[in-house]
Amino acid sequence: MIKIKNLTKTYQNKKTKTTVLNNINLEIEDGDIFGIIGMSGAGKSTLIRCMNLLEKPTSGSVHIDGINITNLDRKSLSKVRKNIGMIFQGFNLLMQKTVEKNIAFGLEIIRIKDFVPENMKINEYKSLSYLEKRKVKKVETKRKVSELLKIIDLEDKAKAYPSMLSGGQRQRVAIARALATNPSVLLCDEATSALDSMTTKSILTLLKKINEETKVTIVIITHEMNVVKEICNKVAVIDQSEIIEQGSAPDVFKNH
Ligand code: ADP
Ligand code: ADP
Repeated sequence: MIKIKNLTKTYQNKKTKTTVLNNINLEIEDGDIFGIIGMSGAGKSTLIRCMNLLEKPTSGSVHIDGINITNLDRKSLSKVRKNIGMIFQGFNLLMQKTVEKNIAFGLEIIRIKDFVPENMKINEYKSLSYLEKRKVKKVETKRKVSELLKIIDLEDKAKAYPSMLSGGQRQRVAIARALATNPSVLLCDEATSALDSMTTKSILTLLKKINEETKVTIVIITHEMNVVKEICNKVAVIDQSEIIEQGSAPDVFKNH
């Protein structure tokens, strides 16, 4: 569960102070597909970046699974971030790496001693030698990448480079990469805004499938009403730095 309490974000320039988020309160429950909708400049991007502390709130707090992450030190925060996947409008893939290497990246950067295998008890892993651990991590990474390639239906593109893929395929890879560490939350920052409507639909269908199969909580910010209408069960509307409405999707859309 993600809880945002009395969150305010202001930017102080030399002369002026701009309030980008004003006293935001939000509760996102486990398994939700939560849409945050609003016009350009409303504060959506800043809000979603506060959820993993890419942006630090000026006041107020962000709680994930009961932990207040607002003032964590760097090390604890990086641990929490492994539990939060993020995808962007611009995909942010590594262009020099193949699809499978891109997906594996999030796992490869985890140190051997911090790795948590999915198919082995953690104590059993801890009791292995360094070289055995390295082997387990390698095998698990390979298995995870195959599993994700299947989910995103791009098994035939494992060895391709991002430049050879369409926008929709790139976003699929970005989704797989974000899911590699089994996060409990997936943050999507205008994830479909660069895509045409057909491709948008297929990405939304994929996100919905992933939500149903893995129960990952999904937060989507977008300026596109059709995106939230299509898949979100909960919606918050943000306007000029404030949440002006939030609730179940049918309730919120009744008024629009
Ligand atoms: P949205 O994602 O809804 O388009 P943003 O969160 O990107 O909105 O931006 C909200 C407002 O905050 C905008 O008016 C933007 O200009 C302002 N803003 C964003 N980042 C900064 C910054 N670093 N300094 C000053 N103002 C900023
Ligand atoms: P915008 O409001 O236009 O999205 P931002 O300042 O939020 O501007 O970010 C600019 C771009 O940088 C984003 O589109 C995002 O793709 C990328 N970006 C920001 N933070 C990260 C990050 N931690 N890792 C990868 N890419 C990032």
